Amino acid sequence: ASVPAMLELRDLRVFYGAIEALKGIDLTVGEGEVVALLGANGAGKTTTLRTISGMLQPRHGEIMLRGERIDGIKSHHLVEFGIGHVPEGRRVFATMTVLENLEMGAYRFASVDQADLDRVFTLFPRLAERRGQLGGTLSGGEQQMLAIGRALMARPELLLLDEPSMGLAPLVVQQIFEIIKEINEQGTTVLLVEQNAAQALSLANRGYVLETGSVAMTGDAQGLLTDPRVRAAYLGEG
Ligand code: ATP
Repeated sequence: ASVPAMLELRDLRVFYGAIEALKGIDLTVGEGEVVALLGANGAGKTTTLRTISGMLQPRHGEIMLRGERIDGIKSHHLVEFGIGHVPEGRRVFATMTVLENLEMGAYRFASVDQADLDRVFTLFPRLAERRGQLGGTLSGGEQQMLAIGRALMARPELLLLDEPSMGLAPLVVQQIFEIIKEINEQGTTVLLVEQNAAQALSLANRGYVLETGSVAMTGDAQGLLTDPRVRAAYLGEG
């Protein structure tokens, strides 16, 4: 028998009122993979992540995590199933310190494990230096690091990242992507939403391109990177 995928979406349809934002998405993420979810503004990338993490309910279709159906389960329970979600726009707690933000990420556990904090501080030395600083006073890049670090405190098996590069300088984007790579190498499966197709595909094993709520293209990352349609639409060529 084959091992069930970490995540499988089957004919997923999601509506906002009468508007069909996802029109039957099929998508698979294997254990240990980094999968990139690409597409223009409004294609449905954020809606896909919000549906996986239980913030939106699909009208049709199935979401399977390791072969078990999880659609219909509320988002705060999905944390216990091993799903971590770093939302678009980061949303760190502005009036809490870096350390308090990280402690909030461990809320599924009875107490904060020092080993989890050490792991985050090793991945993000900048956060260790600034553990007493208020979240709202961090730079954009530091807030992104904190948002990722906070998600890691719940020990996710599957990490959903919504546009981690948004609004950050190229050098900072580079650092964030290197850390995502490291997190993946440490054993966390990653589904990565990005506008930055070149960066995302250079990190990913495979990718999906969404167009107006449907999967327009899918394939291995190298194939998508060299596909003329992807290059024309998402890499500013042609
Ligand atoms: P972006 O990169 O701009 O966030 P996206 O690919 O993540 O784009 P979504 O945010 O998932 O796209 O939006 C998909 C579609 O659903 C769009 O047409 C959007 O206008 C619509 N939509 C998103 N959120 C809502 C909402 N709360 N109410 C109504 N329509 C919505």
